[in-house]
Amino acid sequence: MTDIRVFKGNQVGGNVTVITTDQAKIVIDYGEDLPGNTHVENFSIDWDRENVDAVFFTHYHADHIGRFMEIPESVPLYMGECTRRVLLNNYTALRMKEHVKRIDSGKNIHTFEENKGVVIKDTVVTPYHVDHSAFDSYMFFVETPGKTILHTGDYRDHGYRGHKVINGTDIDIMTDTIENEIKLKGRRRVDVLITEGTLAGSDPGRAVYTEKDMQNELAELFRERKHVFLKISSTNADSLLSFYRAARANGMGFYAARHILDQMKVFNEMSRSSELVYDFSLSWPVLRRNDSADTSEKYRRSFAVQRQHMRKEGFVTVVSEYDEDLFEEFSDLEPVLIFSMWEGYINKEIGGEAYNERLADFCSRHNALRIRTGGHAHPRFIAKVIECVDPVEAVIPMHTSDAAAFLTLDIREELKKKIVLEK
Ligand SMILES: [Zn+2]
Ligand SMILES: [Zn+2]
Repeated sequence: MTDIRVFKGNQVGGNVTVITTDQAKIVIDYGEDLPGNTHVENFSIDWDRENVDAVFFTHYHADHIGRFMEIPESVPLYMGECTRRVLLNNYTALRMKEHVKRIDSGKNIHTFEENKGVVIKDTVVTPYHVDHSAFDSYMFFVETPGKTILHTGDYRDHGYRGHKVINGTDIDIMTDTIENEIKLKGRRRVDVLITEGTLAGSDPGRAVYTEKDMQNELAELFRERKHVFLKISSTNADSLLSFYRAARANGMGFYAARHILDQMKVFNEMSRSSELVYDFSLSWPVLRRNDSADTSEKYRRSFAVQRQHMRKEGFVTVVSEYDEDLFEEFSDLEPVLIFSMWEGYINKEIGGEAYNERLADFCSRHNALRIRTGGHAHPRFIAKVIECVDPVEAVIPMHTSDAAAFLTLDIREELKKKIVLEK
């Protein structure tokens, strides 16, 4: 017997998948509801009674991992190594000591590797990389005695790790992995596909704005605007790379607070063995005039030299809504602010509870330009993944407020019949 339950699949974020066999019980993701989500189900696992054998996390976004502290230490948690390090940096910067202690202790925190199966009693879970706005994101291929299940997690194909070119042919990495690593060129079947569908209902005719498009647009913009403040998530590795490369292409320096540079260092280290190295080597901590940590002569000199460079060569400096002083300091150079995050944070109608008034004021005061790439698959790519997997039994939509839109995807009728719309 294999029982598959996707909880909160009909909302974006906070999805939990529970797979139960005769021997094993495995949970995939245990995250928070995204703030501003209007229709959310209440759901919790009763950890004391359920006897869960392992929890696997697809990536470090809070809507997938945010509730891990509710899970007792006796339950093994599995995540990517980069995910573990990014969380450690995040919680350290936020001074969340208990979270840091749990992640750092290594107690029942296990890291997995791509294409290496983790055996949990009668079930094997094998992670494979996917492209997403989180650097370290995975889909899981789950093999139970009676069924094979592919759980995609969040994915897209328009980031830097979405495609590769082999002998002049462009190949999207996700369906290539599904075909060659998971289905073994047709020698293994997938019974059930559980796929995210955040954008399943959006216009399939709309052009996809890729990370590369954004990098090119920024490189063009920075020819004119050399003094740039940037509001961005410290964990969005691809977009950080786009801004960094566009700055370097124009001879501008890249500056950020130390905790953001710490994240960038993790992305650099974790990518060193791959084809695309996330090189942020010419980036520096932005020094502050009133940095009470160090008021020595040496610090004052470093500060003066840094500011000379920033003024002369230009800069991209990552800021927060609390960095008004930096704007004042450079006001004579008429710096531009770029907001590269989800619109809901600065638009109350879209964001609901996620709306951040201070950030919205900050952005409107400085006429922020909105330039960003999305983290989720376009409907054409969701359709391509479903066609590629070609599941025997079912397609279960998750991470979507519009599961019915799966019926409008450009896939074969026989696959449409396998879409499971009820919970
Ligand atoms: Zn998500
Ligand atoms: Zn995500």
